[in-house]
Amino acid sequence: MGTCRPDAAMPDSRLPVAVVATGNELLDGRAADTNLVRAARLLAPAGARIVFHVTARDDIGAIADAIRLARPRARVLIVSGGLGPTRDDVTREAVSAVARRPLVEHGPSLVRLARRLPRATAQLAIQRRQALVPRGAVVFPNPAGSAAGFALRLQGCWCVVLPGVPREFDAMLSRVVLPWLHRRGLLRRPAFARALTFCGVPESVADDAIDRLGIPLHGLEIALTVHEGIVKIVLTSREGEARPSTRGRDAAQRILELHRALRRRFGEFVVSAEGRSLEETVARLLGRRGWTVAVAESCTGGRVARLLTSVPGISASFLEAVVSYSNRSKIRRLGVPAASIRRHGAVSVPVAEAMARGAARTAGADVGLGVTGIAGPGGGTPEKPVGLVCFAAWARGRVETAVRRFRGDRMEVQERAAVAALDLLRRMIV
Ligand code: ATP
Ligand code: MG
Repeated sequence: MGTCRPDAAMPDSRLPVAVVATGNELLDGRAADTNLVRAARLLAPAGARIVFHVTARDDIGAIADAIRLARPRARVLIVSGGLGPTRDDVTREAVSAVARRPLVEHGPSLVRLARRLPRATAQLAIQRRQALVPRGAVVFPNPAGSAAGFALRLQGCWCVVLPGVPREFDAMLSRVVLPWLHRRGLLRRPAFARALTFCGVPESVADDAIDRLGIPLHGLEIALTVHEGIVKIVLTSREGEARPSTRGRDAAQRILELHRALRRRFGEFVVSAEGRSLEETVARLLGRRGWTVAVAESCTGGRVARLLTSVPGISASFLEAVVSYSNRSKIRRLGVPAASIRRHGAVSVPVAEAMARGAARTAGADVGLGVTGIAGPGGGTPEKPVGLVCFAAWARGRVETAVRRFRGDRMEVQERAAVAALDLLRRMIV
């Protein structure tokens, strides 16, 4: 999901890159193309952008066709996958065919392979293929695996071939290929960019606000993405790094103005002025105060805990989460008063509050978070419809509560409720 405003009038000075992904598993639904995503994220801050992408099945002809299709559209072509030792790994043969250069054994790569397989001569015989590269190619050692990558000139384009294993692709692109492109002068100026994350602002409102600020947008790329109620805006200059301009406000200056104006306009809805995720932001805020948190979740079934535990280093702040689903658990495990459940119902603000207090008290945490709601599809009533969720955050004696109604199916309600719970917590400790 997301929108991007193209600006045809403005030339784009970023390095155009095409990507050819290979692999039957990417075409039959067994695997998602995460290398494309990683490439886009690594290239953008380096001053490059992906202009074309195509996926080919594991077949010499198909990969060669894809390379011929992509090559004229970019100055750098990244080919991912098919460098391993198995029968379906035919990328080097395809590149060799397009470049009309025979495959030759690269001595240092063979030595590296042999070092990785000190006792297995039979294996080396199989793996030996991985030391083959088209004659004249620049060879990139693989810091994370066995198959080397390589690059060679295909007419006006550098064709860079990398292993498909995501960890290896990532390591080679970030640690070897990007520095190499820099050294070759292909990535001269990194793009100037700023990002912002919001919670509780509809994408259309955020998008509209950008127009209403009255800041000229030419030469800027404005990318909006929305995921589970979190809107992220990335403002990128097409002109490169900030520099003094004689022609009035240059793109980088306008990005800073836009960034400032959006922060002012959306105030408390701004999760992060650096584009960090909600969970990272909450983790940083807790860390800054040196506070610990415990969570009691009912309808979210552990999703709040999953979000928090996705942040490296959260162990300093996160004590525990209880999935307290039944009334009995709420009463026994968290000390929610049975009378409160009888009087207000399990989905109610008083119960959410008692859950938050109970979570903090039983875990000995500085902060407690309680979530209780109706995820659906059944269980709704006219007073308490499906999608109704009650939240409470307790922080050292202070309490904040919220009631929200989410649309969508069971999973969407659960995901959104988890995000909203974290956002309530964020607002309380910011
Ligand atoms: P190997 O030596 O493991 O065979 P390789 O360079 O030949 O590496 P592939 O065979 O294409 O690469 O893929 C290896 C693994 O990496 C597979 O599990 C594959 O699903 C995964 N993979 C390949 N390409 C991509 C991609 N574009 N995005 C995500 N995963 C990928
Ligand atoms: Mg393979």
